[in-house]
Amino acid sequence: SALVTAASAPKREIQYPHKADGKPKYSSEIYGENVFTLKTMAKALPKPIFASFLKQRRGRQVLDKTTADSIAHAVRVWAMDRGATHYTHWFQPQTGTTAEKHDAFLSLVSNFTPGGEEVTPIDQFSGGQLLQSEPDASSFPSGGMRTTFEARGYTIWDTSSSMFVQQGPNGTAILYIPSVYISYNGDALDEKTVLLRSNDVLSRAATELVNLIEPESHVSHVYTTLGTEQEFFMVDRTMYSMRPDLKITGRTLVGQLPPRHQQLEDHYFGRIPSRVLSAISELELECLKLGIPIKTRHNEVAPGQFEVAPIFEEASVAVDHNLLTMDILHKVAHRHNLRVLFHEKPFKGINGSGKHCNWAIATDRGENLLDPTVRPETNFRFIIFLLAVLRALQEHAALLRVAISSSSNEHRLGAQEAPPGIISAFLGDQLNEVLNAIEEDRPLKNFSVPQFQSIKVGGTVLDVKVSALPHIARDLTDRNRTSPFAFTGNKFEFRAVGSKQSPSFPVTVLNCAVTAAVREITAELRAQTGSKPRPSDEDKLAVIRKYIKLTKDVRFEGDNYSEAWVQEAERRGLPNIKSAPEAFTYLIKEKHVNMLTKETAIFTESELRSRYHILNERYTKDVVIEAETLKTIIGQQILPAAFEYRKSLAETAASLKSVGVEAAPEVDTLNELTPLVTALQAEYRKLTDAVGSCVEHASDDSNAHAMAAYTDVVPLIASVRSAADALEAAVADKFWPLPKYTELLLTI
Ligand code: ADP
Ligand code: MG
Repeated sequence: SALVTAASAPKREIQYPHKADGKPKYSSEIYGENVFTLKTMAKALPKPIFASFLKQRRGRQVLDKTTADSIAHAVRVWAMDRGATHYTHWFQPQTGTTAEKHDAFLSLVSNFTPGGEEVTPIDQFSGGQLLQSEPDASSFPSGGMRTTFEARGYTIWDTSSSMFVQQGPNGTAILYIPSVYISYNGDALDEKTVLLRSNDVLSRAATELVNLIEPESHVSHVYTTLGTEQEFFMVDRTMYSMRPDLKITGRTLVGQLPPRHQQLEDHYFGRIPSRVLSAISELELECLKLGIPIKTRHNEVAPGQFEVAPIFEEASVAVDHNLLTMDILHKVAHRHNLRVLFHEKPFKGINGSGKHCNWAIATDRGENLLDPTVRPETNFRFIIFLLAVLRALQEHAALLRVAISSSSNEHRLGAQEAPPGIISAFLGDQLNEVLNAIEEDRPLKNFSVPQFQSIKVGGTVLDVKVSALPHIARDLTDRNRTSPFAFTGNKFEFRAVGSKQSPSFPVTVLNCAVTAAVREITAELRAQTGSKPRPSDEDKLAVIRKYIKLTKDVRFEGDNYSEAWVQEAERRGLPNIKSAPEAFTYLIKEKHVNMLTKETAIFTESELRSRYHILNERYTKDVVIEAETLKTIIGQQILPAAFEYRKSLAETAASLKSVGVEAAPEVDTLNELTPLVTALQAEYRKLTDAVGSCVEHASDDSNAHAMAAYTDVVPLIASVRSAADALEAAVADKFWPLPKYTELLLTI
């Protein structure tokens, strides 16, 4: 049976790279070996060419043909030495994943000789080919931005992200060129263009504010940093292949919790199952080669759930790396006969998966502007930037809610284990006290940190001077796992982001909102400073006090899952956006449109509109696909199985009766079963009608259509499921056509 196949799947052995002397290579030696880094480039290019590339990269010069040709030649040779036969512009359409189209380096040159035409094969890659290509773009979502007669899209090399090679088929390799994807008119069709733009405006705004607060700091550039904690489930691939719902929609549409799931709380940080550990370590090896610094791996709360997290990097690179990590994990899992599930809620009743986006702002001098340092109460620069983030959240919480909304993440948001649809910020006791003390103009309450003077070891007390202990950085925040947006030490952790989605749009929106807030505060501080050469401490404090008061309502330290918070949030006027289609409407509300298109100019109006349509259409499609999948499973697998079981009970009862044996137990079971089958069939019919009419009434108003899917179809998907799950409990195991939760969750 499938279970036996799954349990006896052969183990895959990974060859860890070794040096010539037979010793294993150190991670630091493998790191980035498949990346065409600036260092590699510097070695491969003539000095002036490299210098001109660096200038271009910082946006000061357009890349000329000679430079582009030289780089193309150098990277082709470098990649071919690593087995590359093809190159691809690798980009991020608004599908949540990445896209690539491969072209061979092979070209043919024709020579006409007296003897006739002579064709010579050569390997070739020009600067023009490196810089841009024109994929057939008509099948990527554009939300109506590309009309059919102008169905062109261009992928253009994003020089801020390094090229790399990845394994291709049969021992070959492929050169990847990280790219942006834009329309003929220069509109962003992808996730990356807007992210890069948002990094840019935030950099300019934040640089200005830092230099206003501390003119002597001479900061010329700031960048956002991002560390993504990626959660996912692993299931056996044989089991997976028998679940059409998982295959098509990424989540189980039917299925009941096993008697043992996460209630023992023994999975979190427990021993990682060996097959999964092998797969994760193969992932880590591949990531190392690509310069993706995976740092942490551990079990998550639910059975079969895990997490990996990298060391944080500059946001746009971190996004590339997160998408690559997901892609590689997917491939690697396959090799271990596993299947990775990135869906936010693959299983009902146990924890879902998120992608915590740890976000901060750093200067070109390497200082984190969100680092509270030892005495945050005197660090005005820190407090001002902290307040800018709070202000951003207060003004544009609804946009952050948009950025995390999808049909899949809806199953997680608001459910007991995940941050809810109300966006607020958690700061922790100490920072709260700092802000409160400043606001009330009173001294700070004392925060004593327990210090260990001596340690008892095996009955003897060792006197250890505090100075002899390594310095342990105090984490200024305690943990509040219920907050969707929590300050954790020296960064904000945006927790509501879904595990499946690209972190790009959430980070873009956050960058934009913070830019607007930073500009507002800068203007305020300038007004306060007047004609003085720099603001005094009193000037800063005046602005700080004003913004502490102003942003108070967006701070919440309590339990975000409680009903009391829902009421409190309403009193405070914070939006509580209950569904994805409702959230999407905020993307085109005047206040947010102004910020995105005018104040920060990250989006054009048509880019926003198109994104709005893409989000709505995607939502509707996801719901309809789920409904259709569920219909198939119920109509073709579950109802027939129930009929089969009924028939077997009826036949048994009849034959027992015919030989004079009392068949009461079979008849009772049959009688209990019948209403469950009838109930399922009734819900199934309702679903069939609802999805039929939803598809039929597709309207030009993409939001109205999504709303209809949400109100008319989503509840029926849930009620069909309840009916099917009740039946699962009543039908004999050998008749049940699908692997159950126990098999899915515990066979790894
Ligand atoms: P946690 O604080 O959530 O327990 P970690 O300290 O391991 O966990 O950090 C989680 C993630 O946050 C990691 O990916 C880490 O690299 C990232 N991170 C740490 N500092 C920053 C920062 N300044 N900016 C962005 N991400 C950061
Ligand atoms: Mg964390």
